[in-house]
Amino acid sequence: MAVTIAQPGHGRDLAYPLAARTARPEGSVVEIGGVPFGGRELVVIAGPCAVETAEQVHAAAHAVAEAGARVLRGGAFKPRTSPYAFQGLGVEGLHLLAEAGRAAGLPVVTEVLATEDVAVVAEHADALQVGARNVQNFALLKALGRAGRPVLLKRGMSTTIEELLMAAEYVLAHGNPDVILCERGIRSFDPSTRNTLDLAAVPVLAALTHLPVVIDPSHGTGRRDLVAPLSKAAVAAGADGLIIEVHPDPETAWSDGPQSLDPRMFADLMRELAGYAALEGRALAAPRWRDARPRSWSTPVGAYRDQIDEVDDQILALLEHRAELGQRLGRIKVAAGQPLRVPEREQDVIDRAAAAAAGPGGLGPDAVVRVFRAIVSETRAVQEDRLEVPSAGLGVAG
Ligand code: PEP
Ligand code: MN
Repeated sequence: MAVTIAQPGHGRDLAYPLAARTARPEGSVVEIGGVPFGGRELVVIAGPCAVETAEQVHAAAHAVAEAGARVLRGGAFKPRTSPYAFQGLGVEGLHLLAEAGRAAGLPVVTEVLATEDVAVVAEHADALQVGARNVQNFALLKALGRAGRPVLLKRGMSTTIEELLMAAEYVLAHGNPDVILCERGIRSFDPSTRNTLDLAAVPVLAALTHLPVVIDPSHGTGRRDLVAPLSKAAVAAGADGLIIEVHPDPETAWSDGPQSLDPRMFADLMRELAGYAALEGRALAAPRWRDARPRSWSTPVGAYRDQIDEVDDQILALLEHRAELGQRLGRIKVAAGQPLRVPEREQDVIDRAAAAAAGPGGLGPDAVVRVFRAIVSETRAVQEDRLEVPSAGLGVAG
């Protein structure tokens, strides 16, 4: 039940009239440094929990940018449960984050802890994050109404959805229309995960508000092994974006190492997410090495070409993933002194694909056999090349 406040004659009885879906039934698009949240694109924000050193944040920025993240995150002012834990580099951290973002070509988002820091954080960051512990810091929310920067507002660990919306309303009512909501896990009785990620919040919020919603599976679970499955589930639930902690070397992270992905895990996740995004009718930014031609949805032919380009991006991502698996398999075989090439296995891969393609539609088994022969032989060529072993009699079918 919505909380009501008496506003006689005003005609609006919700406690959050500006945030309510009815204020903008078509939904809002909120941009961080030109990157749109709430549109067709599924946007991924990634980076370390905290800015630690110039090298660390640069490495993280480049890794996440290359994998297709569109915004860099990193805490300079850290809300730590213990006053003796690393509190962040403060203003120096803001400088390092902004530099890393510029170098990697990404806008940046970082947390503002205190009202008196709003101006300096707004000077260096493209968006200001309100942490879970500050979601009902009304003085801070009011100040953010005048910050001139978009706000990433995190739900608190015991904040109801309605309270979250009223917190957003503070920012909106004080002059700032650019608010993105973030579900990052709520406190429950179960210590298996750091928090309980409330994915139901995504469709619930979609019904109640026009504001974009992103999911934080890192703080939502506290466990790096759960980041990928919960990211996929968030996409399926309709999230507009994700915010994911990525550290160049999570084992040495100064904060939240156990929930941080390393660059390879993050790149693998981004590849996988492309398919999930496509299922939801959303586009995920392609990794940097792919060309970024302007989209041409304005004509029917252009729309189909764009969709075909997206499918091609996914095929390329899968081919890359397959080649990488071939490399890993190859290294194990070389270490064990086993032959790389197993012709029966190659034939099995091709037969399997042909059988799977036997149904109506698609290319048909003969064409699929030709495509898979090429995939198998090209994977083998790359493997021989990169593993630097004599080419005669080598190979991998995958
Ligand atoms: C963070 O994202 O850096 C953070 C501290 O998260 P939360 O406020 O959700 O705990
Ligand atoms: Mn963190």
